[in-house]
Amino acid sequence: MAEVTLKNVTKVYEGGQVAAKDININVHDKEFVVLVGPSGCGKSTTLRMIAGLEEITSGELFIDNKKVNDVSPKDRDIAMVFQNYALYPHMTVYENMAFGLKLRKFPKEEIKQRVNDAAKILGLEDYLTRKPKALSGGQRQRVAVGRAIVRKPKVFLFDEPLSNLDAKLRVQMRTEISKLHQNLGATMIYVTHDQTEAMTMGDRIVIMKDGIIHQIDTPLNLYNQPINKFVAGFIGSPSMNFIEGTLVHENGLTFKSKEKFLTLKLNESLGERLKNYLGKSVWLGIRPEDIYDSDSFTANNSVKVDVRLEVVEPMGNEIFLYFTIDSSQFVARIPARKKPEPNTTKTLSIDLNKLHFFDADSEKSI
Ligand code: ADP
Repeated sequence: MAEVTLKNVTKVYEGGQVAAKDININVHDKEFVVLVGPSGCGKSTTLRMIAGLEEITSGELFIDNKKVNDVSPKDRDIAMVFQNYALYPHMTVYENMAFGLKLRKFPKEEIKQRVNDAAKILGLEDYLTRKPKALSGGQRQRVAVGRAIVRKPKVFLFDEPLSNLDAKLRVQMRTEISKLHQNLGATMIYVTHDQTEAMTMGDRIVIMKDGIIHQIDTPLNLYNQPINKFVAGFIGSPSMNFIEGTLVHENGLTFKSKEKFLTLKLNESLGERLKNYLGKSVWLGIRPEDIYDSDSFTANNSVKVDVRLEVVEPMGNEIFLYFTIDSSQFVARIPARKKPEPNTTKTLSIDLNKLHFFDADSEKSI
């Protein structure tokens, strides 16, 4: 059992920098929670406060209902895996993994058992006598994880553990950490700036910006029901397209973009949701995957638009099409059939069932 609860936790650094403000998170037993957001949003500070490496300015931190604000890091029963691995270069893999247990005066036999068990889980059995410099980046990262596993902590904390690895290895280690989470049944809190990592690994995701939590939810709910324009743009790759315009009633509910290039006649079913915004400015959001090649998309609830293709990026299984509507840069993802040419006109279909709307002032979802 290992639950982590942050109640109104705030961190103000010396000099007045507010790095985390009024943070409320309840991480359940055995849950994998990812803190994600752009650089400087306060995610590392939050993780370091949980670890006890940063003092909490105000608010309360509980581990299993015990307040631990003033408990020292080594007594919190937490293990942290860092971005730079922090391995001791002069020690072997075995010694690196055993070090923390030795410090805590564990019996030799117990240490051996735990290190061997961890090495087995991580596929490091053949490397136990090597020094870190004779390991690949991925193997070093595994040793860093192994050092956490042998402690059998209540909670694992990860601070951008994969950002020093190349793209392919990152994907591989991502699945390894997810498997590890399933096998150990441990509570894990993971910090990253990478929305793909967050989406693929997290049971729930905490989205932060400027020291504030914007939304906490499952990956699918964040994708389908973002609370505001920031979350909508942060989750999904490529990002959601946005265009500003006005909602009017012209032979039915209609969105007109600011520079009048785009006019979308909307489903009357949206009427109830949008009724307070008639005549007002809104942001329309359309995900790249909700724009289709008109040649292959036949759904009746869509609107066709002719666009001038500026850039065409073949990705193998799909193609990214870049174009401009009004002054807004748009991207569409379509299946890779026939590659359209740049500087040609293409007819695309926008799925009217998948539109997102945001208040122009507050940027909250409507
Ligand atoms: P993230 O991990 O999301 O990139 P951080 O938690 O590292 O963000 O930092 C949040 C904010 O706090 C940033 O504006 C950063 O400059 C500031 N900050 C981080 N560490 C310190 C520190 N030791 N002293 C003063 N300001 C800091």
